[in-house]
Amino acid sequence: MILHLTGAVVLRGTDHPEAWVADGRLALAAPAGPADLEMEGVILPGLVDVHCHVGLGERGAVSREEAEAQALADRATGVLLIRDAGVPPDTRWIDARADLPRIVRAGRHIARPRRYLPGFAEELDDVASLPGAMARNARAGDGWVKLVADWIDRSEGADSRVRPLWPADVLADGVAAAHEAGARVTAHAFSHEAIDPLLEAGIDCIEHGTGMDADQIAEAARRGIPVTPTMIQVDNFADFAAAGGRRYPRYAEQMRAMWERRDAQLRAFHEAGVQLLPGSDAGGTIPHGSLPAELARWVAGGIPAADVVALATWRARDFLGAGTLGEGEPADLVVYDNDPRDDITALARPRAVVLRGAVVG
Ligand SMILES: [Zn+2]
Repeated sequence: MILHLTGAVVLRGTDHPEAWVADGRLALAAPAGPADLEMEGVILPGLVDVHCHVGLGERGAVSREEAEAQALADRATGVLLIRDAGVPPDTRWIDARADLPRIVRAGRHIARPRRYLPGFAEELDDVASLPGAMARNARAGDGWVKLVADWIDRSEGADSRVRPLWPADVLADGVAAAHEAGARVTAHAFSHEAIDPLLEAGIDCIEHGTGMDADQIAEAARRGIPVTPTMIQVDNFADFAAAGGRRYPRYAEQMRAMWERRDAQLRAFHEAGVQLLPGSDAGGTIPHGSLPAELARWVAGGIPAADVVALATWRARDFLGAGTLGEGEPADLVVYDNDPRDDITALARPRAVVLRGAVVG
C-alpha cells in the first residue's frame, strides 16, 4: 500500500510539503505506482511516552486483556513508542502484535521492603544485593533499568519524610553493574537528597526530579541527563501531603513545598538546557491515554508549544535511540487537522494514526 502525505510533514523540526509511505517506511521521493490513500494535515512522528506502565493498575499487575486495552488507549492518542519505566508482568507478547505500540522495557522497579507502592517492585531485603538485581533486570529488559531512589520512610514516626533508599556506594556499584550489562538506568526521585548520589553514580535519566535545586539542574544539563517531569503526577502532591499530613507532618511539608514550586521547577529545567522527557506516569493511578494532557500541562507551565512538540517526538526518539521518521525509517506517524505547535490541545484530537505503515486509528 502506498500512502501519500501532504501538508506539513514535520521531520526533525523541518516541514516538508509531501512524503510517502511505502512498504511500511517513509519515503521523501515518490515511489513507483499510484497512491492508494491520500492524507493531508500536519504530520508528526509518533509520540513517545517514556514513563508509561503498560500492564500495571492501581493494585499492581493487570490481566493481558486490560494491558491490551491500556496499550490501545495510549495508541489512540498517537503514542507509538513507550518506555515502560517499570512493570511487573511479562509483556513480551506485545512485541508480536504489529498493531500495538513499540515498548522499550525497563524490567521491574527495584526498591526496598515497604519503600514503594505495594505489589509493584522487586523488593530487596539486603541493600548489598542491589548491583546483582540491577544486572538481572538489565538482562531482562530492553536497555533500561528502573530504580526507586527515594520513598517515605515510615519507620521514623512523626519525623518520617521522603528519604533515599540506597547508600551512595551501593548505588554507584548498582549503576555500574547495569551499565556493564548494557543498560541505561533511570530513577524515581522526588527528594533533593536523592539527587547527588544519583549524579555521582552516573545515572542516565531522572523521573520526577521535583527536589532538584539549581546546582543539581545545572549539573544534569552539563552531563546531558534528561528529566521526566510527570506534571500530572506532581499536581497530586498537595493531595499526598493532605493525606499524610496528620501522621507525617514533615512528609506533608516536603511534598507541599515541591507542589508549590512545580511550575517554576519545570521552567528551570528547560531554561537550564535539561532535556524534558514526555512521561504520563499512566498505569498506577493515572489513566492510560493521558500523554496529550501531560504535554498541555507543560505548555500551561510555561514551555513553548513548538518546543513541547519537538521534545515529545523526535527529541525523545533520539534519546531512546529510535527512528525519527527519517527517509527509509519505519512509518510511525500521526496526522492532525490543526498544528499542535500553534495549539497544543490539537494533540488530543489526531485525525489518523499510522503504525508500521498501517492506518490503525
Ligand atoms: Zn511511574
